[in-house]
Amino acid sequence: MTEILPALSQLPSPSTQRIALRITAPAERALKQGHPWIFDQSITEQSHKGAPGDLAVIFDDKRRFLGVGLYDPTSPIRVRVLQKIKPATIDNNWFHEKIKTADAIRAPLRKQETDGYRLIHGENDGLPGLVIDRYAETFVLKLYTPAWVPHLKDVCAALQQTQHFDHLILRLSRTLNKQADELHGLTDGMTLTASPDKGQTPEGLVLFKENGLTFECDPINGQKTGFFLDQRENRERVRDMSEGKSVLNVFSYTGGFSLYAADGGATEVVSVDFSTPATQATLRNIQHNQNKPNVKNAKFETLDQDAFEALMQMKAEKRQFDIVILDPPMFAQNQSQVETALAAYRRLTHLGLDVLKRGGILVQASCSSRVSTVEFFDAIHRSARETGRPLEEIERTGHALDHPITYKEGAYLKCLFATAP
Ligand code: SAH
Repeated sequence: MTEILPALSQLPSPSTQRIALRITAPAERALKQGHPWIFDQSITEQSHKGAPGDLAVIFDDKRRFLGVGLYDPTSPIRVRVLQKIKPATIDNNWFHEKIKTADAIRAPLRKQETDGYRLIHGENDGLPGLVIDRYAETFVLKLYTPAWVPHLKDVCAALQQTQHFDHLILRLSRTLNKQADELHGLTDGMTLTASPDKGQTPEGLVLFKENGLTFECDPINGQKTGFFLDQRENRERVRDMSEGKSVLNVFSYTGGFSLYAADGGATEVVSVDFSTPATQATLRNIQHNQNKPNVKNAKFETLDQDAFEALMQMKAEKRQFDIVILDPPMFAQNQSQVETALAAYRRLTHLGLDVLKRGGILVQASCSSRVSTVEFFDAIHRSARETGRPLEEIERTGHALDHPITYKEGAYLKCLFATAP
């Protein structure tokens, strides 16, 4: 059992006073179809002004229960729905059931030499605005709304009842991190619970396994919760196609794709990322896998450089690869940025093909939920045609089982595997 630290025990408890709400007809339809958000503009009647984390009960015009969710007056996503159609008490038991269900879905991963995965994928696992990632014995809980703050004690207790871990680290989304008034002393990267014999924070970086490979992650300072768990299956695909190949991994972060490529028998692996801590972690991840003969034998190069500049420079140097992987950060934060994002994807396809050998494989991904699957794949194909190298698709891939999708905006990851003449 881990110890609950003061950060958690001093948090406020959920208010006992519920907010009663009525919503517009389209919002009611969306709710019934399983959409987990009620926007501020969809609320037509409200009993009283509430605080973040108050439970809001939504009724239809005949005063029948439609759903209950977490109220957040600081966000246009005013209510995140926890339970619909059938009333339920939102308490430790309710959280316990949700975590147990999510955990059962992930069971196949644990048989694949994998102890790094997403246990709770927010909305898609019925806990909107909350993510829990597992890295071996360290768990990371990330919040996207202050509405979770009063419920955090119950969530952590439920987590402890279903899972074994040494440390539970808190991460806050960029928006939430700025809402100091709502945080009640919580800070990004702090430890929420720790096993009494394990110290306050994990000792050094956390090591975990993904499909038999060892990776380190920094759950306190790393991007996201420390690792991009959502690319696990695409990395596995790259491993399967890398035998005897030269591989360029652009936007490589801590070298996920690079290690899989090497383990799959790639002879040469070049990783490009403009973040020096990320490329340094790549070098350490290579060291963590020296027990794998293929990794030991592969030739690695890491470049701390802007991706676009690196690709142009490689073209000028006439460097070419058998496989080029392009996995950039989110390009569109909102609808108005979609066109610019698509232009950037097209530019990347163009630059990627410039350094891809004839008959080589292009792997290009997008994690922008605003950019639709169709728009993204069309952009890549258009760009490839313009460069005179129309692509032949091998596969289009999406989400792994620990990143389930239950509503439209939940589908963000898309990836194309294709050969270029
Ligand atoms: N493929 C990675 C995840 C990529 S996340 C994995 O499998 O883990 C996106 C990465 O792009 C981040 O590491 C970020 O540092 C890097 N990045 C963002 N903009 C960049 C740019 N212009 N040039 C190079 N790297 C960039």
